[in-house]
Amino acid sequence: MKVTQHIAEAKKTIISFEILPPTKGKSIESIYAHLDPLMEFKPAFVNVTYHRAEQVYKKRPDGSFERVEIRKRPGTVGICAAIMNKYGVEAIPHLICGGFSKEETENALIDLHFLGIKNVLALRGDAAANEKFFTPHPHGHRYAEELVKQIIELNNGKYLEEDIMEGVKTDFCIGVAGYPEKHNEAPNIDTDIYYLKRKLGFGADYVTTQLFFNNEHYFNYLTRCKENGVNVPIIPGVKPLTNKRQLTMIPSIFNVEVPVDLYNEMMKAKTDEAADRVGEEWLLMQCKDLLARNVPVIHFYTLGKPMVVYNVLRKLL
Ligand code: FAD
Repeated sequence: MKVTQHIAEAKKTIISFEILPPTKGKSIESIYAHLDPLMEFKPAFVNVTYHRAEQVYKKRPDGSFERVEIRKRPGTVGICAAIMNKYGVEAIPHLICGGFSKEETENALIDLHFLGIKNVLALRGDAAANEKFFTPHPHGHRYAEELVKQIIELNNGKYLEEDIMEGVKTDFCIGVAGYPEKHNEAPNIDTDIYYLKRKLGFGADYVTTQLFFNNEHYFNYLTRCKENGVNVPIIPGVKPLTNKRQLTMIPSIFNVEVPVDLYNEMMKAKTDEAADRVGEEWLLMQCKDLLARNVPVIHFYTLGKPMVVYNVLRKLL
């Protein structure tokens, strides 16, 4: 079922999760071990991230170096199929522009359509590890809006090869990313919302937000988006902060603020368990407020800490 349909039919706030594929060499069992306990909360869907290939230098036997491309976390499409098969829940693959030609994207969409996957999250992706700024693939897309356009074309049966007449129409429901505290490259929030609106104008159906630790950022964003004519569901994405290192790492990676109260409580934590408890309490407080204010979905970034999310949901629901 499409995410928009789930939301339209839900009588209360829906739960969803995001997971990462395991690093290459690890088994799918690590995904099941991560998700098994969380299934108790009957998520409507599970998102699976996509990770672009990285360029690394490998030493040859003669001492010289060669540049090779490796993908550390492959398997997004296979994991989506496995999740749908094992748990019977909707799986949402993320699709990124970075590192992909339009043709590779089209082929991925055809695979997803054949697998019966109805939803995708269309993203630009970040700059490659060896780049300062995002550089598009020479035959790919520069912005997520172009990816949205390509998916919509396929939904209309229009393939890249112009001689394909009456091509089968896909039927993807398309999510895009939104940033309550603005994207790190955006000069200001209004410009960022302007480009969000373009993604929606090209046919995206809903928005999932970047994580935030202060709900007011999310609710202010909702207001601003509404004032700018955005009328699609905006799904809040939340994640527990569970160690002191993340106090500086998360703001620098995701361009989000850590509220002073959360910072102070985390600084007092003397053990890993105490740090988990701080993250858990904060996330629980955020979720209670989100539920009380009737958000359509609470989307949990479960990376690394599924049991913290589990404990929060146990207390929440
Ligand atoms: P865009 O919408 O293209 O925006 C990128 C920047 O360009 C913004 O600053 C925007 O304001 C600006 N902009 C947009 N359109 C234009 C235009 N036409 N002209 C000029 N400026 C423009 N990354 C991954 O690699 N894999 C994942 O699985 C993944 N999952 C994510 C899930 C969520 C919910 C979120 C919020 C992010 C995720 N990311 C993922 C990170 C995301 O790829 C980065 O944040 C990336 O830098 C921006 O992606 P975007 O789709 O928002 O890009």
